[in-house]
Amino acid sequence: MRSIWNEEVETLSADALARLEAERLQQQLAYNYETSPFFRSKFEEGRVRPKDIRHREDLLRLPFMEKSEINESQNDGSLIGINQCAPIEKIIRIQATGGTTGRPMRIGMTRRDVVDFCEMGARALWAMGCRPSDIVFECMNYNLYVGGLSDHLTFEALGATTIPFGIGNSRNLLEMMTQIDSDVAIWSTPSYAVRLAELAAEMNIDPRAVRLKKGFFSGEAGMQVAGYRDRIEEIWGLVAGDLYGTGELGMHSGECEHRRGLHYGASGYILTELINPETAQPILFENGAIGEFVYTSIQREASPLMRMRSHDLMQVFTEPCACGRTSFRFRVIGRSDDMFIVKGVNVFPLGVQETLARHRPELTGEYQIILNRSPPIDYPPRILVEVARDVPADKHAELVAAVSEAIQRDHNFKPDIKLVEQGTIATEKKTHRLVRAYQEETS
Ligand SMILES: [Zn+2]
Repeated sequence: MRSIWNEEVETLSADALARLEAERLQQQLAYNYETSPFFRSKFEEGRVRPKDIRHREDLLRLPFMEKSEINESQNDGSLIGINQCAPIEKIIRIQATGGTTGRPMRIGMTRRDVVDFCEMGARALWAMGCRPSDIVFECMNYNLYVGGLSDHLTFEALGATTIPFGIGNSRNLLEMMTQIDSDVAIWSTPSYAVRLAELAAEMNIDPRAVRLKKGFFSGEAGMQVAGYRDRIEEIWGLVAGDLYGTGELGMHSGECEHRRGLHYGASGYILTELINPETAQPILFENGAIGEFVYTSIQREASPLMRMRSHDLMQVFTEPCACGRTSFRFRVIGRSDDMFIVKGVNVFPLGVQETLARHRPELTGEYQIILNRSPPIDYPPRILVEVARDVPADKHAELVAAVSEAIQRDHNFKPDIKLVEQGTIATEKKTHRLVRAYQEETS
């Protein structure tokens, strides 16, 4: 069986890809200009016409857009927002992604957008080892968010046998998995796999007796943290793959078997620029470069994005990969939205997670940072840290001291570490690693 889902596109040379992108970029920008007063105003602001933007380098002449612009227009009553370019009769699906205001942000898809969503997702899933012979329990939330329905249809497009299990019924899930005399796979957040293992222990089910052999995980960034993935693989005896996507773009990038970062799977659909998050100046796409991703749709009908700032900090890798895919690879360093500043030091939850993961097996690796008072954060932030069940209570104080010291050493701030019981942090839904308790709603 082939090793690459769409060999023609995923192994394009840099020149051939640049030609494809340029052609689609020009078509998309002309379309945006014709169909959307919002996008037209962006061109006017940049004092350019669509014909002036011919290649990715020319994008610098256009101003950025922010997710908050879409959010605000939706709050004012717009169905899918200010960036809507297709008429409602062409839109066949509306789903949502987390917004900037605590409310969901609605996204429209035309029939072609749905096909493209599935194509990007299939590239990522195929790279992660998903095949038509897989039986996949889809354990994301089948509601407004893309993780349920849209991702389910992506697994179907790839040809996998997909079981729409959803969340909230974990006992039945374990029972069904135990009952089935075949290897099975799961599509969920990584913390759901952790939660499920806790439940298996309560039900006296040995996770290794469940034939869960492949884990396709997304929705949380922890999989790239050394130690975190290992724990999930060890518990279940499965091979865990990491996928990256966002609601507004779709699922698009997955790791190949070499595990050298996420292969960018949106070639031909999304142009991604790299910028310095503070100055907004472009950063060259060089091996190891770190910057914020900025997205421009180049084949999107309903809700295109045009230089939308992601506020996600990424590291990119451009050296060739042995799998043959020519796309760049990347890893998530952190979401700017999740970054917090303690006495002048920038902290990303993922960095804290890396430190905690080094304290396995005494710690499980599950954690939650709680900011109790609004910035400036001149107090030690509370970090809830799960202690493994078999660590005796008289060792806890020593462990707290060691973890505090490690965090101070690695991240230059003093935390307020509180140990909590194993099994209390990971949830069935997306687990929030950073809780701003002073806000009404958390991001
Ligand atoms: Zn590869």
